[in-house]
Amino acid sequence: MTAAAMRAWSVVEQGPVEGEPLKEIERPVPEPGPDELLVRVRACGVCRTDLHVAEGDLPVHRAGVTPGHEVVGEVAGTGAQVFGFALGDRVGVAWLRRTDGVCAYCARGDENLCPRSRYTGWDADGGYAEYTTVPAPFAYRLPEALDDVPAAPLLCAGIIGFRALRRSGLPRGGRLGLYGFGGSAHLCAQVALAEGATVHVITRDEVSRRLALELGAASARDLAEPPPEPLDAAILFAPAGELVPVALRALDRGGVLALAGIHLTDVPPLHYETDLFYEKEVRSVTANTRADGREFLALAARYGVRATTHRYPLDRAPEALRDLKAGRFDGAAVLVPG
Ligand SMILES: [Zn+2]
Ligand SMILES: [Zn+2]
Repeated sequence: MTAAAMRAWSVVEQGPVEGEPLKEIERPVPEPGPDELLVRVRACGVCRTDLHVAEGDLPVHRAGVTPGHEVVGEVAGTGAQVFGFALGDRVGVAWLRRTDGVCAYCARGDENLCPRSRYTGWDADGGYAEYTTVPAPFAYRLPEALDDVPAAPLLCAGIIGFRALRRSGLPRGGRLGLYGFGGSAHLCAQVALAEGATVHVITRDEVSRRLALELGAASARDLAEPPPEPLDAAILFAPAGELVPVALRALDRGGVLALAGIHLTDVPPLHYETDLFYEKEVRSVTANTRADGREFLALAARYGVRATTHRYPLDRAPEALRDLKAGRFDGAAVLVPG
């Protein structure tokens, strides 16, 4: 069908992004499978998980994979079994790509825990390219109110931050601590604030502390200082296991710490009396369900959640990853082809 070629980034050999784990290649525009959409990429957010895929914190699932799972694009082709999508429709492509739909977890609505789940930009080629594909049942319709570039980070950073917020069990009007304040946290904070929470941000990055205060956080402090009041819930966004006991100690009795990352360095030993007693809880967050995604995208439009974005042309993808790793920007980076 399509013999045309496209530009795409490929993880040729996992390693530090200061080297060259990614190479820009030409490959044929992909053929959508029978239940898939071919998507022309208009914008693709740069997620920390892409860094883990490039550097080897996550094992290789597909040799030479094209990363990228925060894709806003338009339908450029459809497989034979697809209905309900037309050429030119705007869609979002996210991390969760497929589940088996039949296991015990899928059956009870926890498809994020499906043992046979597949992920965009890890098991299949993602959006660091001019075109990508997505199974139609896993494509998101995007609210009109959201423009292409600011919508891109919502598709992983936003959805995961939202699931982490719900997993944290934050009560209405509660006190929330956010440890780390990058792409995911700054979107999560906007939802929490819109729902009446008091938000305290703890990050060593000064630019991000400023962004936190601009968005309405009650405080933004460096790691050395605890938040100004006990927390009902906290979310750890930084991939730093050493912050687990730090965040647990900041919780009030009965508080919950949610761990939002897909990768975390080792957690040091916990002290039962100060870190866990009084019914404090630690909960991990694993991907998201499509229901989380749809609920978050609707709320993002309603609450006016806005991603702070920094555009990079597609051919500067490695630079965007290096800048992410070094903490050189606040908010999120977005790759724009052409
Ligand atoms: Zn399943
Ligand atoms: Zn992601």
